[in-house]
Amino acid sequence: VPKNSNELILLDAGTPLAGCNNRVFGLDTDTLAARLADLGEQPYRGKQISEAMYNQFVTDIIEITTLPEKLRRQLIDKGWHVGRPTIAQPFKSTDGTERYLVEFEGENSKSQTAEAVWMPEGDGGEAGDGSDSDPSTVDVAPSLRSRSAERAGGRPWSRATICVSSQIGCAVNCQFCLTAKLGLQRNLTPGEIAGQVVAILDRQKVRIGRDRVNLVFMGMGEPFLNYDNFMAAVRLLVREVGLSPLRMTVSTSGIVPGIERFAQEPLDVRPKLAISLNAPNDAIRAEVMPINRKWSIAAVIDAVRRVPMRSRERVTFEYVLLGGVTDQPAHARELARLVRRTGLPAKINLIAWNSGPGIAYTTPSSATVEAFQNLLKGEGIPAYIRQPRGRDIFAACGQLKRTVEG
Ligand code: SAH
Ligand code: SF4
Repeated sequence: VPKNSNELILLDAGTPLAGCNNRVFGLDTDTLAARLADLGEQPYRGKQISEAMYNQFVTDIIEITTLPEKLRRQLIDKGWHVGRPTIAQPFKSTDGTERYLVEFEGENSKSQTAEAVWMPEGDGGEAGDGSDSDPSTVDVAPSLRSRSAERAGGRPWSRATICVSSQIGCAVNCQFCLTAKLGLQRNLTPGEIAGQVVAILDRQKVRIGRDRVNLVFMGMGEPFLNYDNFMAAVRLLVREVGLSPLRMTVSTSGIVPGIERFAQEPLDVRPKLAISLNAPNDAIRAEVMPINRKWSIAAVIDAVRRVPMRSRERVTFEYVLLGGVTDQPAHARELARLVRRTGLPAKINLIAWNSGPGIAYTTPSSATVEAFQNLLKGEGIPAYIRQPRGRDIFAACGQLKRTVEG
């Protein structure tokens, strides 16, 4: 098969999709209203479409029953369609985690899938996303679980975390990360990022405003290298879907210009911030995260300092423990000093490295991980261990790599 045969198929397949400019998923109420006004329709119809897509999880224009049927048919004739990302393939873990291959409606046949993960009960961190600023996020005691499951409408989970991808692949090239192996395929659009969340909310029958769902932008990709689309997705999720930015955490490998822009975001749409620190000093960090040669730890910390913290908000430093490389007692003490010197309200999330094919690190034992945590705590630094979720289905951190090519 010639190497470019794909592209030939793709040119062909592109034609019937000419109407995909009229995809509405990803547009906000105001944009929808303006498009409808252009067609001579009442702008409030925009709100009806956004409510149908983002609150009732409707995926077909014909099902938007708040619109007159004639208008629905007119819109469909003009090529309007919802075009929400679809869950092409679910993988279920024995621990309840589900990993999804999410498929995007595309202009070309390449790189049209990314992965998202559903983790009921969080990941063993305090609130799934590792946040603990909200007292209501305390784990329910086992004896209370059945009652809370009842309250949750018979759902087997009392809270859950959704892990979202921001790009297909990643350009950052962290040495321990499987997603890095893909390279950057492409950025995801706002609708593709928010659509992963909505598709999962729909599948899991989540009731917005009642069920406790956290979002972590920690899937494939570097959100701050797709900044505008990432933030547009957050605005959709907050303003249209109705999720709270206090239940969202974005993780960055330390893209300084991105952090600086993030610092300017209005608080009502600004998620919490996590920094993938992963090493106690520049020498080790540059070895495991080559991006450190561009933006050093000090440069990243300086940028983080400019992010105005809410009361009781803390920045999370993520720290992947690589056997022998970053997991030694001396590393813990150096890390504690580093974090203390920042003067930032901070906590550390420890993640034992999840192995991946073709990556030559080792996973530290749980005893090593606990010793590391205890050293940090002994130095007065709050430290939590993030339990790997869905390891058996490669859903854990840094294991997100498309299993089926788009
Ligand atoms: N690109 C962003 C967000 C996605 S990665 C970032 O790097 O922050 C989310 C987290 O998973 C990061 O903290 C990263 O350091 C961690 N991670 C990546 N690969 C991992 C692996 N193989 N095992 C454990 N954690 C990993
Ligand atoms: Fe990209 Fe994050 Fe993986 Fe680094 S850890 S390669 S930034 S996804």
